[in-house]
Amino acid sequence: MPKYTTTFSLLLLLALFLFCPVTGNTQTATNYHRYFATAQYNGNTIIILRKFEQQGKPYYLYADPKTIETATIAAAKVTAQATKWDDIVTTYKTTPYIKALLAAQQQSVALQDAGITHAYPKEKGITLTIDLCPSHKPLDRVIFTSLITEFKKIETPVPVALSVTGRFMLTHAEDIDWLKNLVKQKEINITWINHTYNHHYDPKLPLTKNFLLEPGTDIDFEILGTEIAMLQHGLMPSVFFRFPGLVSDAKMVQAVTGYGLIPIGSDAWLAKGQAANAGSLVLIHGNGNEPIGVKDFINLLKTEQSKVTDKQWLLYDLRESVKNEFGE
Ligand SMILES: [Zn+2]
Repeated sequence: MPKYTTTFSLLLLLALFLFCPVTGNTQTATNYHRYFATAQYNGNTIIILRKFEQQGKPYYLYADPKTIETATIAAAKVTAQATKWDDIVTTYKTTPYIKALLAAQQQSVALQDAGITHAYPKEKGITLTIDLCPSHKPLDRVIFTSLITEFKKIETPVPVALSVTGRFMLTHAEDIDWLKNLVKQKEINITWINHTYNHHYDPKLPLTKNFLLEPGTDIDFEILGTEIAMLQHGLMPSVFFRFPGLVSDAKMVQAVTGYGLIPIGSDAWLAKGQAANAGSLVLIHGNGNEPIGVKDFINLLKTEQSKVTDKQWLLYDLRESVKNEFGE
């Protein structure tokens, strides 16, 4: 991909931010780029994935390879040892983070549903992922209000993973604020999955040339542009990535993991009639475009209601699920 395309796209994104003020305590991240390094922080090794500037000061986005949690930190607070990504993979290949990333790479052959599709099989319950693809419709808030009602007194905050696109954030500032408020009230806990910026889809194209596989796709912008938008909206990017349409090929999986991101598939896309079993990574759409999946999920909640009350059917935090699946 020619460098100027990326630069142009990032400039365009910056221009969009300048003309689209958002609420909350957010700041624009500039000079945002991939930067791989390790450092010691609070007695733990952290893996630095990105470097950027906020108000003229350098910052890092990093992951804890044991907990798979991410955070940002002022660069001045740690001594970073710049390292090639491949060397980080080799050195930390026994940590849950890198183990999961390597496992996802192994499952990269199929055109659809590459990556981690199931986790934490020993426990009763599921991990819920909700995709927020670009949409003109509002967020399907009933998903969240139903979850909060059903899990009240059983499991709070309720853990959910949301795959968010840049374009959804651009047109749903109020919905994002509503979600952030639920997090603040400790009703839900969100893991933010990168679902690309544009999420291109052309119904006329075959899958091999569709979604992220569309010729001319600027992968750098699709990934980093989404992370910049997340930070701009006060959302913490995680190390997880969901392919638009769940469509990818081995080369694209390699490209995505090269950003330190773990592709997350699904073994229970409810609207496609796939059933949720223990350990399933359930997929529904929360962008108003998949009412069947939302209805199925609410029915599932009702069916399992007695088990929920008995704590025999719980929801799991994606980071926790992957950590348990790939821990020692
Ligand atoms: Zn999508």
